[in-house]
Amino acid sequence: MSDIIRLLPDHVANQIAAGEVVQRPASVVKELLENAIDASAKGITLIIKDAGKTLVQVIDDGKGMSTTDARMSFERHATSKISTADDLFQLVTKGFRGEALASVAAIAHVSVKTRREEDDLGTQLDIEGSKVTNQEPVVTPQGTMISVRNLFYNVPARRKFLKSDSVELRNITNEFHRVAMAHPQIGFKFINNDSELFNLPAGSYRQRIVNIMGSRVDEKLVPIKEETELLTIHGYIGKPEFARKTKGLQYFFANDRFIKHSYLHLAVVSAFEGLLPDKSNPSYFLYLDVPPDSIDINIHPTKTEVKFEDEHSIYAIVRASVKHALGQFSIDAIDFQKDTELDLPYEKARGTAQAPRIEVDHDFNPFKQTDSRSSNTSGKSNTYRPERTPAWEALYSGLDEESTMIDENHAFAKAEQSLFSSEESNSTTNIFQLQRKFIISTLQSGLLVINQNRAHERILYEQLLRQLTVQNGVSQQLLFPIALQRPPEEVTILKQLQTELESVGFLFKVLENTNIEIEGLPLDLKQTDVEPLLDSIVKFQQEELPAGNFSNVDRLAARMATKMAIKTGDALNGQQMQQLIDELFACKEPELTAQGKKVFINLTGDHLNSKFN
Ligand code: ADP
Ligand code: MG
Repeated sequence: MSDIIRLLPDHVANQIAAGEVVQRPASVVKELLENAIDASAKGITLIIKDAGKTLVQVIDDGKGMSTTDARMSFERHATSKISTADDLFQLVTKGFRGEALASVAAIAHVSVKTRREEDDLGTQLDIEGSKVTNQEPVVTPQGTMISVRNLFYNVPARRKFLKSDSVELRNITNEFHRVAMAHPQIGFKFINNDSELFNLPAGSYRQRIVNIMGSRVDEKLVPIKEETELLTIHGYIGKPEFARKTKGLQYFFANDRFIKHSYLHLAVVSAFEGLLPDKSNPSYFLYLDVPPDSIDINIHPTKTEVKFEDEHSIYAIVRASVKHALGQFSIDAIDFQKDTELDLPYEKARGTAQAPRIEVDHDFNPFKQTDSRSSNTSGKSNTYRPERTPAWEALYSGLDEESTMIDENHAFAKAEQSLFSSEESNSTTNIFQLQRKFIISTLQSGLLVINQNRAHERILYEQLLRQLTVQNGVSQQLLFPIALQRPPEEVTILKQLQTELESVGFLFKVLENTNIEIEGLPLDLKQTDVEPLLDSIVKFQQEELPAGNFSNVDRLAARMATKMAIKTGDALNGQQMQQLIDELFACKEPELTAQGKKVFINLTGDHLNSKFN
């Protein structure tokens, strides 16, 4: 047998890599904003259309690129940010993997205009599905403008998985918040469908938070600042009465990068212990600065999950800092009791929230010891006492709501990837047929159960509708025409439908008013199916249906789809199943058949779990 292993062509590899980096428009937003920041931009504008599905554009006034660099930037593993593996431990830039632009260019229409300060003319590049389609000199301001249009235009299955505009816009807004909050010294604008959502001037951290979260937040922020050998922490926590029943505003940043860290989240929550009404969540905006070599950012492609070298100590410091700040706040609250009463928040004025009651040793400074890694403290009650219980791992594994969500998202993205990346990546292994009726595909979030007959019906229906409207159906000419005899009223009906039937590939002549001769058939229609199909079309036309429900074209497409679809009992191989899935999710409405019957069900992990109760 000949050798079977081959290298994937670049554009395929890029498309697969894109699945890791780009899951939705918000991922593009994040990557482009981060590139602008890495280019030392002072002002960044984000423009999107249709929640980023049509356009994501980022304009910066950063250092720009030379023509060669602009070309290079779209190669995989092309980065100006690191050159050796050791550099990974001294990272000060957001990007370093050199795959964002290559990934985006593999699955969208990308255009770039960029100019460096020292160049008179800039460069314009247009790229489609990894191929450069245009390159020319261009007059453009210093900096870079990247436009990403029609995301996933060549990966319909993934495009199908995008959520509604409002959900995708929320994802983008979240991403924008995170990046903008980490960089208050940069001005940001965000324009959605021609209306300005945010205009954030450069300023302090506090101003940035307030500008994003609204001025009502201002009075509720308690500042934090601690410096230790291991890390510097600054930022704000929400006063306890700011706590929300819904998920609070919870933001961790490490070295100017938004991160998700469920273990550190627990550190904050535990510092608030006893101060919050039941089931409410604290808010916090905490900025941690650690030496670059003590944090691993490279553990996840989106770089939001990071690993600290000494997580236990960082946990202890975060917890103590929050406690300290809360203690400080309570002193201030006592000193200026009158004032604070004046600006009591509404809920509190109505007496529904409890006044904070904090018992801490205000003189205690958890960082007095030179070795902050030591867990030992003075034995006073109610003071900072880092918890080194061996049970912490158990806590850690009890991931908070958000991180569970993220894991799922990630898993789902992976599954999507295997859904769309067809033969090349051998992804057919997780698809199989059940009872020659269902196609089962494993998603990491559960199981997708597809009714093969209905799925094919939906695919054909949409295909036929397209052919009927643009009239470009392909016909296979018959060597020996099929002669049919039918009562005159039926022949009349067929005559009325002749144009439509021809547009899907049915070519026929009416010889007498009882005889027709079929000369061409739609591709994929078996000869044995011709008579029953025509009969059912005629019957369908004769049926009295509520007016306006179906057009002739609709009926015809629906009938034909039913007849032509793969049936229950048909065996399918892996490739056929994969194709069916891909085509199904490229449909406008994959969920239902033309008759409104369910095409597939998604058994989620939760659903399965509930069956084991
Ligand atoms: P990474 O950011 O990991 O290096 P990217 O694919 O995001 O990888 O970008 C590749 C390279 O393109 C960057 O290293 C940088 O040199 C250049 N680049 C990307 N965006 C910009 C920009 N807005 N301004 C200047 N240079 C940029
Ligand atoms: Mg980058």
